[in-house]
Amino acid sequence: MYRKVKGTQDFFGIEAKKLRHLEGIIRAVIEKFGYEEIITPIFENTEVFVRSSGEESDIVSKEMYTFDDKGGRSLTLRPEGTAPVVRAFLENKLYARRALNKYYYFGPMFRYERPQAGRYREFNQFGIEAFGASSPYLDADVIISAAEIFKALGIENIKLKINTIGDFASRAAYSALLKEHFGKGISSLCDDCARRLDRNPLRILDCKIDRDNPLLKNAPKIEAVLSAEAKAYFQKVLKILDASGISYEVDPNLVRGLDYYTDTVFEFILESDDELGGLAVCAGGKYSDLVRSFNGPDIPGIGYAFGIERIIAIMDKQNLFPDLASRADIVLISLDEEAKEKALLLARALRGAGFYAELDYQNFNLKPQFRLSEQVDAKFLVIIGEEELKNKQLAVKNALTKEQELIPETKILEYFKENLN
Ligand code: ATP
Ligand code: MG
Repeated sequence: MYRKVKGTQDFFGIEAKKLRHLEGIIRAVIEKFGYEEIITPIFENTEVFVRSSGEESDIVSKEMYTFDDKGGRSLTLRPEGTAPVVRAFLENKLYARRALNKYYYFGPMFRYERPQAGRYREFNQFGIEAFGASSPYLDADVIISAAEIFKALGIENIKLKINTIGDFASRAAYSALLKEHFGKGISSLCDDCARRLDRNPLRILDCKIDRDNPLLKNAPKIEAVLSAEAKAYFQKVLKILDASGISYEVDPNLVRGLDYYTDTVFEFILESDDELGGLAVCAGGKYSDLVRSFNGPDIPGIGYAFGIERIIAIMDKQNLFPDLASRADIVLISLDEEAKEKALLLARALRGAGFYAELDYQNFNLKPQFRLSEQVDAKFLVIIGEEELKNKQLAVKNALTKEQELIPETKILEYFKENLN
């Protein structure tokens, strides 16, 4: 027996419907904010991710599914959505379409991680990217859109954590401060952090292994070196969130796992006592220099990504899915070859009129056909036998009331238009 690859999932039945259901809700919200869908390939040249996320990020240093294709190119299954969207934005010169470009995406991402609650090797993300404005109003509007999505899904107990990691000058000064601070306690940090110390000390604040090390908790805060402009920018973002009634907690240790962020960074975390508590459901930030680092024009961007599997798990716990089971309107039951053909044609006509019609393709006995009706929870049964064929009539049975009546063939569509809905 073949088994699925570790950390992957099959979606079928109600689980597949849940995915599509929340996708529909999210689309409806985000399109009102002016975002258009963008669909990029599942794999990219490896360089796209290495260049953007940074060699020291968890994603690039240990989580990527990278392979050489038969032409010897190094390709990577996308671990995240921002770098591909930036690549597409530049390659297709989307910046020439208009000054402000807003895109959203849905799709699978791949990361070699240890599978556990809410953590898979293939998982789905919904994300947005907005290019072309460096403004606290845009940053706030992006965060508001995420909050609106949580509201539309009905999800409660979500906490917004927000921070600024400053502009480039602030970040450089902060890196120097952190290097000095962490340098003193280097032996108490994990091997990855020892490596990060020289190359990217900011990354240490985001380490999952050293998370509880006092050295991290007592690290100097960006506040100390934040430029006046970066400070004012962040205060403005917070002020707009206040005015929008969106509550948040400023978390000075929040730096996010990728190298490309500047200024505003944020995460929406689930607050609960179960295994999902503390997990980030949505995370993002502003990236002023990512487009330029791809050899593009100097255009700032900001975005976020939601983890769809985590949303499904939370919505399951909070009982937020409606009844998604689909019931057949009509099952056509046929008792001989001629009737079977009639059933197939009638099913086609009924479907054409907008009904969900089903039939058994191989049985002529009643029992398996009744069983099928139960499995698809049919509302009506139409029974076609010798007698019915002869009289051009159909026996229609209401599955709930068990009442049965004879309806002339020519009147059947009309009958269901009246009796279903
Ligand atoms: P974490 O800190 O949980 O590892 P991350 O910082 O790596 O998250 P991002 O790269 O910001 O996550 O991805 C955005 C969102 O995608 C996360 O907030 C989370 O909801 C979801 N996500 C990330 N990795 C996984 C995974 N392996 N399985 C399922 N969902 C994931
Ligand atoms: Mg991660």
